[in-house]
Amino acid sequence: MSERQRYRFRAPSTGREVIIEGQPGHTYRDRETGEVLEVVARLTPLAPSPSDLPWAVENLRHCPHCAQMAQLDLNDCPTCGRRMPPLGATATV
Ligand SMILES: [Zn+2]
Repeated sequence: MSERQRYRFRAPSTGREVIIEGQPGHTYRDRETGEVLEVVARLTPLAPSPSDLPWAVENLRHCPHCAQMAQLDLNDCPTCGRRMPPLGATATV
């Protein structure tokens, strides 16, 4: 069973960031500059997870029931388990 783990990489000269499903010991290079990308962060949720979205602010919303953060693509709040309203109904941006 393989579990994907995504990492955020940054190209040192340009600051451009990409998200790659990285494998340990593998070196990734920027597509344009060819320089070696440095790992900035490992993204949560750690595999396996019901959601594919990273826990970045733009991918989160507040559950209207318990006010905890939940990922946008989840129907049920992971904290309190209650159903959240459809996307758009509680848009905050
Ligand atoms: Zn909740």
